[in-house]
Amino acid sequence: MKRTIIEVILALALVGAGAFGWTNFKGNQKATGQLTELTAAAEEAAKTATQKEAAIKAAEEEMAALREEMAPLEGQVQQLAAVKAAMANGATLADLETAYKSQKNLSAERQVGLGALRMLTKGADNPAAIESFRKALQLSELGDRKNTICAAQIGLAAAGEKVAIMADCLPKAAKAEGAKDAKDEKPAHGEKAGAKDENAKDDGHGKADDKKTPEKHAVHWSYDGEMGPERWGKEFPTCAKGKSQSPLDIRGPFVKTRTVVTTDYKEGPLKMINNGHTIQVNVPPGSKIRIDGVPHELLQFHFHRPSEEKIDGKPMAMVVHFVHKSAEGKLAVLGVLLKEGNENPGIKTLWANMPLEEGPEVVAEGVNFNPANLLPREFDFYSYEGSLTTPPCTEGVRFFILKSTVNVAKEQVAAFPFKRNARPVQELNGREITTN
Ligand SMILES: [Zn+2]
Repeated sequence: MKRTIIEVILALALVGAGAFGWTNFKGNQKATGQLTELTAAAEEAAKTATQKEAAIKAAEEEMAALREEMAPLEGQVQQLAAVKAAMANGATLADLETAYKSQKNLSAERQVGLGALRMLTKGADNPAAIESFRKALQLSELGDRKNTICAAQIGLAAAGEKVAIMADCLPKAAKAEGAKDAKDEKPAHGEKAGAKDENAKDDGHGKADDKKTPEKHAVHWSYDGEMGPERWGKEFPTCAKGKSQSPLDIRGPFVKTRTVVTTDYKEGPLKMINNGHTIQVNVPPGSKIRIDGVPHELLQFHFHRPSEEKIDGKPMAMVVHFVHKSAEGKLAVLGVLLKEGNENPGIKTLWANMPLEEGPEVVAEGVNFNPANLLPREFDFYSYEGSLTTPPCTEGVRFFILKSTVNVAKEQVAAFPFKRNARPVQELNGREITTN
């Protein structure tokens, strides 16, 4: 087809050129130009036609392939319908309940299976289903029976129960965490401005990735199991090889320092995120600390349970890490230890608005918060050079841990949706711990 079009146009053009040639030599030259143009136009038209033909052919082939794939699926759809029918009329559930009746202690897996089937048959608000899931959770050891726990948690959530679902249980695409290659993205848990090291998202709780980039390869880490703190070094070498890692067990002897730290925190709209590793409050610009007069902007603060830092070997109930950054990109973390005691009104406000499940940042409509609400009155501190306390464990982070603690009620600790999100203490490796 392409060839035919070109030949026809070529012939017409030659006739035209010939006619001009008889009368005017220059006219002939002009005709040659026209000939070239016409040939090019013809080739272009032919190319488009060929492309369209190819596209149609490809589409036809795809249709044929899809038809072939559909055939066996129809069989599966029928099977599924049969299974669904058996569940709906309760036959399957009755069979299973009879089979399990003689067994006194059902395994966690069977509890989950039974709970799921009860829920499918009797609906999401079925108390027997909820009881099964609860039993499964009680029976399960975290880590080695993760799938069972996940199934029970998801089952309870589906039944409308308030339950925190572990980050590990959520589908990969929704999580999109820890991607090392998402360097220039705003980190979900990190600061907004971007640290000098692209991985230095915060003092270490950041996923190195953003919710908006689920297509990026996710590097997973957690506080237990196969990607727990002992294994972080596999994916994040600094976590294992670094010589000034955080957190520390803070104990003497201390070196006296004249460093002065002052805070200047401002009230602003409350924005929180559950990033699957902690609850983090993203702070609007304007709040800062000064370290010997040098301003460090407060980016975010977040919580660990129990406190990552230990004092003379003892952890506190929780710790708040206020993460700051100077204009030069130097990170500084102010740690406030939370001790079990009276209710903390600041935390009451935060907990009332925190997202219980991992997801994007949530704006608490009409709620303002001043981070200063979480500070003690006294400002004596321990200080040392450390690192992010989560992957990638980047070093060069100055820590100031306040000696004065603030209270947190036992119930408030219990309401924090992460049971344990603290990295174990790290080797001192000859570092000085200073005190003012
Ligand atoms: Zn932290």
